[in-house]
Amino acid sequence: YNHVYGKGKWKDFDQKDLLLSYNALKVLEARYLLKDPNTLRYIETPQMMFRRVAKFLSNVEKIYGKSEEEIHHIEEKFYEKMSELKFLPNTPTLMNSGTRLGILSACFVLPVKDSMTTSQGDGIYDTLRAMALVHQQGGGTGFDFSELRPKGDIVASTAGVASGPVSFMKIFDVSTDVVKQGGKRRGANMGVMHVWHSDIEDFIHAKTGQLKDVQLQNFNISVGVYDYFMDKVEKGEEVPLITPRKTKIPGTDHDYYIVKARNYMNEEWVQEEILSELEEKGSVYLDESKIVTVDEALYIAEKEGAIIRWINARTIFDEIVKGAWDGGDPGLLFIDEINRRHPVWYLGKIQATNPCGEEPLLSWESCNLGSINLEKFVKGEEKVYVDWDGLADTIKYAVRLLDNVIDANRYPLKQVEDGTKRTRKVGLGVMGLARMLIKLGIPYDSVDAVYFSYQLSKFIYYHAFKASIELAREKGSFPAYDPTRYREIWDSSRPFDYLLSVTGINETPSTRIKELTKIVDSLDFSALKKDRITFGLRNSTVVSIAPTGTISIIAGTSSSIEPLFALAFIRNVAVGKFMEIDPLFLDYLRRYELDNSEVVKKVAETGTVAENPFMPSTIRKLFRTAHEVSPEFHVLHQAAWQQWNDSGTSKTINLRTEEPPETVEKVYMIAWKLGIKGITIYRDKSKSQQVIYFGIKK
Ligand code: UDP
Repeated sequence: YNHVYGKGKWKDFDQKDLLLSYNALKVLEARYLLKDPNTLRYIETPQMMFRRVAKFLSNVEKIYGKSEEEIHHIEEKFYEKMSELKFLPNTPTLMNSGTRLGILSACFVLPVKDSMTTSQGDGIYDTLRAMALVHQQGGGTGFDFSELRPKGDIVASTAGVASGPVSFMKIFDVSTDVVKQGGKRRGANMGVMHVWHSDIEDFIHAKTGQLKDVQLQNFNISVGVYDYFMDKVEKGEEVPLITPRKTKIPGTDHDYYIVKARNYMNEEWVQEEILSELEEKGSVYLDESKIVTVDEALYIAEKEGAIIRWINARTIFDEIVKGAWDGGDPGLLFIDEINRRHPVWYLGKIQATNPCGEEPLLSWESCNLGSINLEKFVKGEEKVYVDWDGLADTIKYAVRLLDNVIDANRYPLKQVEDGTKRTRKVGLGVMGLARMLIKLGIPYDSVDAVYFSYQLSKFIYYHAFKASIELAREKGSFPAYDPTRYREIWDSSRPFDYLLSVTGINETPSTRIKELTKIVDSLDFSALKKDRITFGLRNSTVVSIAPTGTISIIAGTSSSIEPLFALAFIRNVAVGKFMEIDPLFLDYLRRYELDNSEVVKKVAETGTVAENPFMPSTIRKLFRTAHEVSPEFHVLHQAAWQQWNDSGTSKTINLRTEEPPETVEKVYMIAWKLGIKGITIYRDKSKSQQVIYFGIKK
């Protein structure tokens, strides 16, 4: 070994492998470690995998004229962060870096135009092909199906009758099943339909009732809603259902009114959007006097026959809520919020997200993700504290690594390459929040924990943004960067107190938590903005909170910003039954001398201790699991992380089986008011299967 690795060096390898848990090794050997295709023998160990990724991603620095020495330094940093499990890129990057499969990103949004094929390659069957290519290599795809003409509409070329968007979604679903992502990862899709579409009721019911365990099993579905619509829900007023077919009226500029009517657009950004759309087409100049109100636009839309019928917004909303309660779908996407807080809003309107919602993207964009393992940044024995410096250093190299992925990526299609390189979006996220909180002694469902989330996400955003400015200094800004039109998200981030007031919680964070996070209060965002204007920005978005379904297993921590799912459980495997127990929980049991097999067995039966009267109250408070945390605290954490995030926040609001539909309704309403970009709930046991399997903990 000394001969191969250099004297004593092999010891590092061994020690680093010891950081990997049994489950991590299982996942790695099953799907990540490279094998010889002929003999099926492994040709790499976990450390060799991290080395492969580090080498491959540092090598692209050559394009920017870096010396061998600089590249070597960067490689070592990348390797160090990954092998110490402080940061991991998303699955496709780990699996495909340096191999023949070249897709390294997890998230894609593809356009679907109302035509079989088009010369731009964005017709229904063009997109179907694009989707298959992305799935084959482990990416997830999102689509807005609202451009498709409704069921029963006329097909001019055949004089036939259109079958509607939902029927086309079924084809996408079957293709997903067939491709199965090269056997390594299941295909995942997000299907979106905007609430104005006249087939919206079919869409809402596409995965409910008898269909819920049968139809569109490879899709998460979400209804795109607008502030206009949500206001009408609150007031119980009617909204129009519109056909997307009647939006182009040759020889008039009425189509713009109808587009506006259709989108129930929000006044704050409608003007900018319409103007930039026109600018792009190089056509008519629509002066300000022609910017009409939604009601005026609707009047024209009605006159032109674009409105099929009116329906009470409440009726639609109730159906959405019922569906979600029944089987988890549909979720909501808040289209106005997504676009208001899209930093490069001037490039067009975002209509859809990737499968789990953390990436609202323009058509043809892709984004690669990576997440920091927060648990690693709790230090101290007697007195625990957060290692802010270590965190900042990891953020810096993580952003560099993610940015390099854009150059190292082999894109499945030219349009995706162009779309991605134009904005260079990257998504730095987190995992292990729940375990970090436990180590700090803060219960997840407390005002302190939400405050901590708010401050921590602010810190991460600041440093990720700073890293992107530094990269721009070194390598240039993203091509579509416009220093005057770029919109800082922190100008519209809601204050912490506002979040609490929406949920009606009347409590203030403790002095201890304020002390613990006081470094965040000294961050100077206006200086950051000045730097951005002076030096530019490398990535149009930098942060995104992904579910980390698999990489959190590799890192051996809790997933994303979710609370713990279970403290102990029994796993049936081929060679027998194993009891698995959360190591942090076991530590606590030891402290109270409760670490005997009887206690552990009892806990494993239910997975929780919150209602166990024989457990010390500290343990009961600190180890609340997903179904014991109230919906308000789930949503509050999501809202806190969304305020310091230029993309989206993936979160499942886990509800107990017995929660009524009213809880879903409340959660969806609160989410809108909290400025969340998208929301999904899942009521325990409401489905027999889930769209995405989060690792093997099922
Ligand atoms: N994804 C997918 N198939 C899967 C899981 C995930 O296509 O089975 C995509 C999807 O776009 C999702 C993204 O990967 O939103 C990130 O998921 P996650 O963080 O769970 O991925 P990980 O990197 O942990 O595997």
